Amino acid sequence: MKTIKKPKDILLFSKKMHLAGKTIGLVPTMGCLHEGHLSLVREAKKRSGIVIVSIFVNPTQFGPNEDYNHYPKTLKKDKALLNKLNIDLLFTPSVKDMYPEGFSSFIKVEGVSGKLCGHSRPGHFRGVTTIVAKLFNIVSPDYAFFGEKDYQQQLIIKKMVKDLNLPVKIISQPTIRESDGTAKSSRNKYLSAKQREAAPVLYQSLLLGKELAKKKEKNVRKILAKLRAFINKERLVKLDYLSIVDPKTLQELKTVKNSGLIILAAYLGKTRLIDNILIKSR
Ligand code: AMP
Repeated sequence: MKTIKKPKDILLFSKKMHLAGKTIGLVPTMGCLHEGHLSLVREAKKRSGIVIVSIFVNPTQFGPNEDYNHYPKTLKKDKALLNKLNIDLLFTPSVKDMYPEGFSSFIKVEGVSGKLCGHSRPGHFRGVTTIVAKLFNIVSPDYAFFGEKDYQQQLIIKKMVKDLNLPVKIISQPTIRESDGTAKSSRNKYLSAKQREAAPVLYQSLLLGKELAKKKEKNVRKILAKLRAFINKERLVKLDYLSIVDPKTLQELKTVKNSGLIILAAYLGKTRLIDNILIKSR
């Protein structure tokens, strides 16, 4: 596996690969890789001739009081994991190369970026769409792979690709979980032992919501009240938001008809975790 740091070198590499008739799959990450990231890499390997993984902790998607300066960095371990999967190329650009002095252009997807995580983390999705668009321009992937754990993120990226006619197909993949149901996340590392023990209540609440909606409870207000009561039993967990929304538009639902998405964010101490589950009643 080759590691390239300079955007101009990747541009050249991708051009050569395309000229040789190869398809390129890109898996953008912030590193501290776990099985969730690796599942995206495996899917990329199935679909594309060349697999490029990027590791870049993107400063513009973090708010001023967020964890940018503490975000876990485990590059050596990440490289070993990627080597085992036999990917073609690792792209690890510097902040200076991605955001040179005077940088002032951003991409914002209106509407869906303002809800849920976008409401709690103003500017977050503007940072995400900007870096993802930059990566697309540098790598020119045919396919790019994103996890459904970050449901709103993959929806916004799909919208950006459609709205801006970007020549890339976005493939989203299911959430990979720990054995207790907790969604794998680089941020799980921040949790104390007690917080880690409390974390499964989040996925359990999603399962409970899905079960209620599938049985007979269609009233969203009633379902959410039950889920809030369930989560609040865990003293260490403080909900940021909990909603049932239309999976395509993220509009809040009043009743669950054919489908819905239960989506939440919660704090355990200073650590903010997100999760979601799709409900299909037919
Ligand atoms: P991150 O490094 O957290 O920015 O994540 C990089 C990519 O991995 C994003 O597309 C995430 O949605 C995806 N991802 C993170 N955690 C998981 C997970 N538990 N299951 C599936 N995909 C994930």
